[in-house]
Formats: sequence, structure tokens, C-alpha cells
Amino acid sequence: MNLILLGPPGAGKGTQAKKLTDERGLVQLSTGDMLRAEVASGSALGVEAKKIMDAGQLVSDAIVIGMIDGRTDKPDTAKGVIFDGFPRTVAQAEALDAMLAKKGKKIDAVIELKVDDAALIERISGRFTCAKCGTGYHDKFARPKKDGICDKCGSTEFTRRADDNAETVKARLVAYRQQTAPILPYYQAKGLLHSVDGMAAMPEVAGQIDRALDGVKG
Ligand code: AMP
Repeated sequence: MNLILLGPPGAGKGTQAKKLTDERGLVQLSTGDMLRAEVASGSALGVEAKKIMDAGQLVSDAIVIGMIDGRTDKPDTAKGVIFDGFPRTVAQAEALDAMLAKKGKKIDAVIELKVDDAALIERISGRFTCAKCGTGYHDKFARPKKDGICDKCGSTEFTRRADDNAETVKARLVAYRQQTAPILPYYQAKGLLHSVDGMAAMPEVAGQIDRALDGVKG
């Protein structure tokens, strides 16, 4: 089964994608994670991408389409993929359909997580991650049990994304509304779109996604 998780930054796409990965054996493909890996490696692509990401804008369609094309050729994607943060423009959505068709694959469902802008800014500006195991936390909603120590692996090092500040988040929301939201009617017309209430508690959102996927073959 190949799924797309769509929604503004902070809607919970990454959290739900990890859950689906564990439960359904799908592989999470996050173009944001791939781009952050390029930035961390100091590659020419990473240096260029960092400027755009720090401004809250979208990197070029050609770059992310190329990354996804290469990644979906790998054998671990055979059982299915969760696209997280991709596609983000109608051109990317069209390229994804064409690319999958060439590989004899298709998108089986698109899940939209709907969340209010005010909640998004609060969610994003407080989030941080264990630098060692990647567990996600939040200053207000999900602090570690012992301050400064990761619940899962005991590490004392945490990171915050450079683009998770209030100013960049506002630009990312504008990019979502202007460039990404037009994808919704594209998938609606194909009968693939399922919208869930991303304002609900995490387990409730997961339940809504499960119910939406129950009727999906793939
Ligand atoms: P994310 O981790 O999905 O929030 O992505 C972080 C940043 O990476 C975005 O604000 C964009 O600058 C860039 N990015 C990630 N995915 C894409 C994409 N599919 N198209 C264009 N830019 C992207």
C-alpha cells in the first residue's frame, strides 16, 4: 500500500507516519528528512537547500522529485511507502503519479490532517527531538519524564530544527496554503482523499486513519 500524508507543518504527519511504519511495515519517505541529511552532510545540494529551508520556502520540484525517484527504486519500498511531506506542489503530485506508473505502482490513499493555524504555531515552536534516537518531545505537550533525559534511550542531547521558529513557521504555512493545498482537489478528483481531524489527540487521529485505511485495497 502506498500512502501520502498531507497537511501543514506541525499537523502530525511525521508522528503518524512512524506509527504506520511500525504497524503496517511500510517505509516512511520524508523529503524533509532527506534534505536535512543533505544539509548535515555539507553537500552542495545541502548548502543550497538550507537557504531555502531556513526561509520557509519550497526547494525546487526537480530536486525532490529526483530524490524520491531514486529512493522508490530501492527494494525496501516494495511492500509500500508512506510519503511524508511529498508531494508539496501539483507538479510534484503529477510527477509522482507518472513515476509510480512507470514502476508498476500507484498511490492507494491520501490522508489529509486538518489543523488550525494557531495550533500549528504553538505545536511547532515547542518541539524538539532526541539527538540520538530521534524521539520527539514538546515543551508544553510532551516533556521527557525527567527533564533533560530522553525517556527512550537516556541521551541528554536534544536538537531543535532551525526552521521551527515562529517567523519561518509563518512562511511555511503560507507555502502550504498557496502551493500545497491545491493538491487536495487533485486527489479528491481521483477519489483517493480521506480527511481526518488533526486537532484530536494523537491516538484518536491514528484511529481515524486506521478506519479510513480499512476500506482501502493495496
Ligand atoms: P518538512 O520536514 O517536511 O517540514 O520539510 C522541511 C523543509 O524542507 C520545507 O519547509 C521545505 O523547505 C523543504 N521540503 C521538504 N519537502 C519538500 C518538498 N516535497 N518540496 C519542496 N520542498 C520541500
